[in-house]
Amino acid sequence: MVVVMKKNATDEEVARVLSKIETLGLNAHLSRGKIRTIVGVVGDNSGIEPSVFESLQGVERVVPLLGPFKLASRDFKSEDTVFPIDGRQIGGKTIIVMAGPCAVESKEQIIQTALAVKKAGATVLRGGAFKPRTSPYSFQGLGEEGLKLLALARDVAGLAVVTEVMTPELVPLVAQYADILQVGARNMQNFALLHAVGESHKPVLLKRGLMSTIAEFLNAAEYILSHNNPRVILCERGIRTFETYTRNTLDITAIPVIKSLSHLPIIVDPSHATGRREFVCAVSRAAIAAGADGLIVEVHPDPENALSDGAQSLRPPEFEAFMEDLKKVAHAMGREI
Ligand code: PEP
Ligand code: MN
Repeated sequence: MVVVMKKNATDEEVARVLSKIETLGLNAHLSRGKIRTIVGVVGDNSGIEPSVFESLQGVERVVPLLGPFKLASRDFKSEDTVFPIDGRQIGGKTIIVMAGPCAVESKEQIIQTALAVKKAGATVLRGGAFKPRTSPYSFQGLGEEGLKLLALARDVAGLAVVTEVMTPELVPLVAQYADILQVGARNMQNFALLHAVGESHKPVLLKRGLMSTIAEFLNAAEYILSHNNPRVILCERGIRTFETYTRNTLDITAIPVIKSLSHLPIIVDPSHATGRREFVCAVSRAAIAAGADGLIVEVHPDPENALSDGAQSLRPPEFEAFMEDLKKVAHAMGREI
């Protein structure tokens, strides 16, 4: 981290910062500019809160240089993390597409969707059995019945399954049926849940919180990695901004930023990012062009009557066209779908 002194900071105030750094067992790197003085804190300062310095007289602000995440960082592991999902590698040359309804609603709905997305080239079937809904009166998912239907659809269509787990207690149950455990945006900082999925030994799809910074996102991944689960897939799904035309604002920059900071694969959810099916294809093209390793897309055979997120769900023929479109971008980027 770097301690930026106020313009009028005195020599005595700078000296106090230097001695604080020394008492913490770290080294200081002093840089006296024409306008202000900056003190670099050198050494392992991952356990040190910026407030240790922020509270000192003459300090303007503290800028963390490296996030406190270690296992998730490129400093720790420089090569990309690549692991198999249903016979295909995520994080490598292949773009992995996960597709399916927001929620599992019935046997017919999930099987019809699974067959359609498989035919169009998806690798993973998505579908919520436990749904984190904004309103307690909205459809909450079919629970274990939904998990059973997902497992059935997986066998019928030949796909892997990703589904959300909302509480630590439910991890063993969901892990019985799912190939990938999804931690939803609203639970990104549910540390007990991160701990539990870390111990599950199933790949984890970790979605970025609605109001989370990239550093918080990578720290959440760090929790999973630090509980000995190296198979984490990050998912940028849009964040809250002042813009209300779309459901969220896709932070496309997060893709190259995360690629530079971390070795973990990152995919994009254009459905929750936009909230509108007419924009899903355009932002997916952008995501692949920006270096994303995959996409998770909502597809529903009858969006008008969907129990959740119909407006952002593609119909099967639209999904087929979407896949054809994305192949061109993937090829242009030297990748495959
Ligand atoms: C979902 O993918 O079903 C979902 C609820 O998304 P998010 O957690 O990103 O809102
Ligand atoms: Mn949804």
